[in-house]
Amino acid sequence: MNLARRAAVLAILAGALSCTSASTVSTPPVSVPQLAAPAPELEPYRADVEALVREALVNGQSYALLSDLCRTAPKRLSASAGAARAVEWGERTMRAIGLSNVRLEPVLVPHWERGETESLRVLDAAGLPQERLSLLALGGSVATPPGGVSAEVMVVTSFEELRARAAQARGKIVLFNRPMDPAQHDCFAAYGGAVDQRSRGASEASRVGARAALVRSMTMALDDHPHTGAMRYDIDVEPLPAAALSTLAADRLAARVAAGERVSVNLQLSCRTLPDVLSHNVVGEIPGTGVEREIVVVGGHLDAWDVGHGAHDDGAGCAHSLEAARLILARGHRPRRTIRVVLFMNEENGARGAEAYYKGHIDELERHVLALESDAGGFTPRGFATNANPRAFESLRAIVELLDAASANALRVGGGGVDIGPLANAGVPLVGFRPDDERYFDHHHCERDTLDSVHPRELALGSGAIAGLLHVIANLPQPLPRNPQPDSAPSR
Ligand SMILES: [Zn+2]
Repeated sequence: MNLARRAAVLAILAGALSCTSASTVSTPPVSVPQLAAPAPELEPYRADVEALVREALVNGQSYALLSDLCRTAPKRLSASAGAARAVEWGERTMRAIGLSNVRLEPVLVPHWERGETESLRVLDAAGLPQERLSLLALGGSVATPPGGVSAEVMVVTSFEELRARAAQARGKIVLFNRPMDPAQHDCFAAYGGAVDQRSRGASEASRVGARAALVRSMTMALDDHPHTGAMRYDIDVEPLPAAALSTLAADRLAARVAAGERVSVNLQLSCRTLPDVLSHNVVGEIPGTGVEREIVVVGGHLDAWDVGHGAHDDGAGCAHSLEAARLILARGHRPRRTIRVVLFMNEENGARGAEAYYKGHIDELERHVLALESDAGGFTPRGFATNANPRAFESLRAIVELLDAASANALRVGGGGVDIGPLANAGVPLVGFRPDDERYFDHHHCERDTLDSVHPRELALGSGAIAGLLHVIANLPQPLPRNPQPDSAPSR
């Protein structure tokens, strides 16, 4: 940290600590202490933070909470019976751990179902089905007609290549086969660089007259597990059936096409979209004592794809959020600010819960001092990412340095999460929990996202880290400086 930034941090933290009212942000006279110790103003919090982490490891409930969710509602895609059970579970669990003001907040969610039929067969020269390839329909896809779609496969690695070869694409089934970029250090960045093929591939394929879209699964693992995920159709295109192939299946098809073979396949999907369904975000609080009007949000999303258990995505985030609140209560802390736990609905295929929270709380967003989301899995903590302005960033960095005990002492610039994303429009600093991500996409949106892929200790460390961060943020004498609001913040 350079000296100027150091001075800014100390102005917020040291000045703030001498202030008895946290509801106003006044800038006290700045004196720049020596750099002998890291953020000494935060040292009073260190023992609490370390005790929270220890409690998480020794007497923690993280894995029990996650097990309970995965047993109660292993399949909980929005609008499903499992999602309704997950909402009931969230409400019941919040009451059981001692949260106050527990309530359900309505969210109208899309209703897509996978259906019974999903198959992709390679056809022989006579058009008879041969090898079966592993695939999953993408969420939001239309079905194929009865009997499926049979056509030759065309392989591309980008929309640009597809457009350049548009004449060849007519009547074909297009396979988008660009892998996640292995040169990216951050696996989420690698995902972000490839996922347009999944979300928009069907629309691009439709524009060039193709008949269906296949996409290589969004993972660096080489296995036979396809990974589903959301897709959408541009309004000006005919919707094409769309599905994800396992990486091995994609490689096999692509190798045959690259060798000059004309490979035809038959794709059959019976997925469907039904009318929207009323569901809920689940909300509970630890009421503040002193500046209870100020709110610190922590959350994850309750819905999950209909394969696996949604254990990492995002059962882990739900368990982290609930357990962090439980740890704070178990240690006897009564934070100055209100800590609000939100289990969001419909992150995966619509983000309607995020929108409903933003619109439903718009009148109190100026009192949201920070929002934290855990939606990156239950692996060993590394730290946090934030969109916070430079002054708040440096303050957060000093706070995160207290989280050594949970291996979570890194802070970098980044997003908070889909569910809290809209709060950026109100200037709320957003923070995303960041565990190790090397194996996250091996499990993400596929049948491998099971309870047994989450390690109890790693999950508990995450809860301890989040509890520690919340504890400090909820007790600082002054809130962090807010972010500037974008000019074009959406209205309610
Ligand atoms: Zn997620």
